[in-house]
Amino acid sequence: MAIVRSESSSISGGNTQNTPLSEDLLHSALRPKTLVDFVGQNQLKRTLNVILTAAKKRQETAPHLLFYGPPGLGKTTLASIIATEMGGSLRITSGPTIEKSGDLAALLSNLEEGDVFFLDEIHRLRRPVEEMLYSALEDFALDIIVGKGPGARSLRIQLPKFTFIAATTKLGGLSSPLRDRFGESFRLEFYDPKDLETIVHANAKKLDVAIHPDSASLIARSSRGTPRIANRLLHRLRDFAHVEHLDEISLPIAEKALFELGIDKLGLNEGDRRFLRIVAEQFSGGPVGLSTLSAAISEERETIEDIREPYLLQIGFLARTPQGRVLQDQAFHHIGLSSPQNKNQNPLFSFSEQNR
Ligand code: ADP
Repeated sequence: MAIVRSESSSISGGNTQNTPLSEDLLHSALRPKTLVDFVGQNQLKRTLNVILTAAKKRQETAPHLLFYGPPGLGKTTLASIIATEMGGSLRITSGPTIEKSGDLAALLSNLEEGDVFFLDEIHRLRRPVEEMLYSALEDFALDIIVGKGPGARSLRIQLPKFTFIAATTKLGGLSSPLRDRFGESFRLEFYDPKDLETIVHANAKKLDVAIHPDSASLIARSSRGTPRIANRLLHRLRDFAHVEHLDEISLPIAEKALFELGIDKLGLNEGDRRFLRIVAEQFSGGPVGLSTLSAAISEERETIEDIREPYLLQIGFLARTPQGRVLQDQAFHHIGLSSPQNKNQNPLFSFSEQNR
């Protein structure tokens, strides 16, 4: 399967660590190549397998599919697996890089029958571009207006049959006409530590580095339910082991490395703890609105919404209410503070003793 990245495109939104696409996608030896190697997300895999098997049996292209969920959970990986399974080339681009409908027309008219056209960050697609996409998805045709004024006429260009796969971190950012054009939508869930452990062991093998089972389990628990983070930690721990001339990522070196990297037992980093501290201390735990929070911590709303919050919500550290974000008791406890309800009690544990 060929992977082609469109000239103007770069994937950034799905890429929490700001890793360049070339490193993360094209040269990632760790990306699973088949559905069998894709760990976890069992319900999704079962349904996808039925869809792909049926399409192959009928010798059709796979239907258009939408994947949504936080960054790093495998949306791009699934697109590349689908292209492989269906025997087409993968063409990659992302919403914000398609500026004009002409850009989209150029990308689509370069497709070949059976190709998979992957569009990351579809919620950031501009309106005229989105509108052009409708007929491309429904009728495999592009309607182009040629000329201006009274002499203008509409031209219909037929496209080869292709599969459109889109990814988004914000399902709510998609209009319903756009959502309706997908044959199926899949939500990716955070991974449980057992699945992440399997990923870490498989990838340690690919990287040819020995890892103690306890270290693999520690990485899994420190990865915020996210394979991309597990892979990144595995790379960093391997660096630490190599620098110390160790043949194996032992538990002591794994613990030391995570401490040096500022990652605690829940996988939170210094940025996350700072976020929690600001909500706790400056806003008495909330409710606080996203814009106010964004200004207080000098971080873009998108970064907070897409990268910081999903996992904090998942582990019950944060709640979203109509009035704003509210910090939960466990979060106060984690950063060594009393929650407002327990203000007159001393914190039971200090952060440095308990959480690192
Ligand atoms: P997204 O597109 O959702 O941001 P990616 O597909 O780029 O996430 O996944 C990030 C990395 O995590 C990939 O390079 C891949 O190595 C790894 N990964 C993601 N999902 C899985 C999985 N289910 N099994 C094994 N590795 C995975």
